[in-house]
This record gives sequence, C-alpha cells and structure tokens, in this order.
Amino acid sequence: MPPAKPVTAEDKQPAKQLFSHAELPTLGKAMAIGYYPRGCLQGGVELPVNGPNWQVMRLSRNRNWGHPELVRFLERFAPLAAKATGWHGILIGDMAQPRGGPLPFGHMSHQIGLDVDIWFMPEPDHRLTKEEREKISATNLVSDDWKHINPKTWSPADVAFIRTAAEQPEVERVLVNAAIKKELCRVKDPKHDSWMDKVRPWYGHNDHIHVRLKCPADSPNCRKQPPVPGGDGCADKDLAYWFSDKVLHPHITTPAHPPKPLMLADLPAACKTVLDAPANPRAAQR
Ligand SMILES: [Zn+2]
Repeated sequence: MPPAKPVTAEDKQPAKQLFSHAELPTLGKAMAIGYYPRGCLQGGVELPVNGPNWQVMRLSRNRNWGHPELVRFLERFAPLAAKATGWHGILIGDMAQPRGGPLPFGHMSHQIGLDVDIWFMPEPDHRLTKEEREKISATNLVSDDWKHINPKTWSPADVAFIRTAAEQPEVERVLVNAAIKKELCRVKDPKHDSWMDKVRPWYGHNDHIHVRLKCPADSPNCRKQPPVPGGDGCADKDLAYWFSDKVLHPHITTPAHPPKPLMLADLPAACKTVLDAPANPRAAQR
C-alpha cells in the first residue's frame, strides 16, 4: 500500500482562515488564479488608501489588494466617475485580501483580485479619519419592501455612476440590487444603452455596486465567467425571480447539513503555492 499522504495543518483549516492570515502579497508575476468565488491571487498589488478621486473604506479589513489591472481600473475609473456624477470622488469598499482566496466574512467572490465594491456615496471633500472609515455606512438606495428604489436617496447621479462603470471595456459585470436594475430598465434609452447588458441583479448591493473585471491576458488559469444571457435583462421574466417571495422573504432555517467551508484542496493547486510563497518585502514598506 502506498504511504498515506501526510496531513498538514493547512489541510485541516478552512481556506478562509489560511488566506485571511496572509498579511502581504506574494512576490512574482501577477496572476488571477481560478474562478471569482474559488481561487486566489499571485503578485497582488495594493490600491493606495487615498487618491486624487478616491478613499478606501474599512482599512482594518486589509482588503484593498488586487490584480494590477484592478488597481489600474480604479485609478482610471475614479476621475471618470467623479466627472460623470459631479461627486468629489468615490468610496471604495472591499477588493481582495493580499493573496486573494476565500474571505472569512462578507463575500463568496472577491477571491482572485478582480472584484471590487464601490459605494453609492460621494467621497466627502475632506480626508476621512481611520475611525470614520470604519463607522460610516454607504447610502441604501432601495425601499424597505425591496421592490423599488427609495426616491429620497436615489438620484440621477447614481445612474451616471453605474453607467460609467459598465461602459469600461475591461468590465465583465456590474452587480446591483434588483430594484436598482428595475429602475435602470424603466429610464433606459433602448437605442443607446448597450452598457445595460452588463448590469445584473444580485442579492444585497443596495448600497454599493460590485464591479467585476474580465480575466486579464496574463492569467491563463483565470476562469472566464460565461457571457450574460442575451439582451439587457429588462424583460419581466428576467426580473421576476428577484421579486419572488422566496427571494424577498426567505425562510431562514438552520440547515441540517450546513455547507462545508472551502478547503485549500478545493482551490486550484496553484493556490497552495501562493499561500506558501515568500512575501513581497516591498509591499511591507507601506
Ligand atoms: Zn459585492
């Protein structure tokens, strides 16, 4: 009989614990590895916490890391969004952990350095303190019954914000709450709104947009998301599910067999190399 493969400490802990403890990215060429909700990030880079048109929120989470294309996208998108909305700039929520991987709370995706949450809230004209960045919440644009936008918080600038994100060529999807998608469908101009195809409903996302980039050319092990089904997603049949009783009023029960957390063995094999790789010492001098 062949000797049993030795069980290491890494094999016993959920991958989210292993990856959340890696405080610095790896050395080496940047690569997004795996799929948005099942993968990791090699050679991650940090988005500076302050830029000319942005500030990063929730600094304690150490999630302002991404593939260099995500950082470049945000540096380019922030001034475009500011111009389109009349805002001073944007507030950036979670990107990825330094080495990507599953997160201990908050998201299924954001694992390969190509996802970012951006708040529905203009950047204030002053620099926020660390404490403010932990405490301030984004603006909820959806009504209490989750069926409509909230006219008190919704504004045309929000349309410009979503549109500017969806128009960028490297963007694969923009996820928003279904009530927001419904409102975009109501006001759309059918002749010119091809950007609407990329804007898709998802759970939550009532106080932020989720921007997902396409797999970069340098990442052969990045798995593409299947293209959006044809059309702009505004047909009644596309939206009905999101306003069904099971989505709006789910029965919260404790499952008899809760889903198992992802283990390192569930991720692409290259993610073990990423976890064990030496840290990029230059990233420590921040
Ligand atoms: Zn999100």
